Amino acid sequence: MSRVRAPGNPIRDRLMERLARAEREAPATRRKVSPRPDVARPRCGRCRRPQSACWCRFITPIAARTRVVILQHPREHDVAIGTARMAALAIEGAELHLGLAWEGTEALRSAVSDPARPPVLLFPGDGARDVGTDPPQGPVTLVVIDGTWSQAKRMVRQSPTLASLPRVSFVAPRPSNYRIRKEPRADYVSTVEALVYVLGALEGDADAFRPLLVPFDAMVDGHLEKQRERAVLPRYVRPRKRPAGSPRAGRDA
Ligand SMILES: [Zn+2]
Repeated sequence: MSRVRAPGNPIRDRLMERLARAEREAPATRRKVSPRPDVARPRCGRCRRPQSACWCRFITPIAARTRVVILQHPREHDVAIGTARMAALAIEGAELHLGLAWEGTEALRSAVSDPARPPVLLFPGDGARDVGTDPPQGPVTLVVIDGTWSQAKRMVRQSPTLASLPRVSFVAPRPSNYRIRKEPRADYVSTVEALVYVLGALEGDADAFRPLLVPFDAMVDGHLEKQRERAVLPRYVRPRKRPAGSPRAGRDA
């Protein structure tokens, strides 16, 4: 997550919807701005990004003791700059499933049926154990919901099995670098950033999953670069003046 890390935030959810819409409408926008023909761009079959934006070469496979099962909301699947796929490709054995209703599905049944790795749901709220201070002992199956906060809440509410899983949460140790998906809360991070931290905490090695950030940073940089080339920076990603010395000062310049 965790776009589902933060408690309900209508402003963020609106921004998410807006970005997803902007992504879908991007080709039309480009045509207006540039007269060049917008031919269908060849896509990478692995990351599904256009070949020019493919980040697969930055992926280093990482072995994990934790079994990672990502349940992705269908709308999130359409977000070109989503990061769940990146995590699923890099973490060995990770699963990425797409759907809305999970109760009774094979994906969920399988996720909660591994006696050697009992399931926990990465989801904030009352009763959630902070993986940083109180990690579960022994390997677990980490069930991750990939979607906006409202989508994630709905998906969990609609599945008694998901709703009854023990929960773990985390406190983001550093500001997100998800500069292309404007985060209205300081503790909001992308799914892949959340996994870097949570898996590091679960497996007792804070650095073990940091290579996941290489394709993530490459994607963010590439996306911003493309936007600069098009000179149609949407308002919600336009670099803001930050006070000197603020954590990200200079990064967006
Ligand atoms: Zn690729």
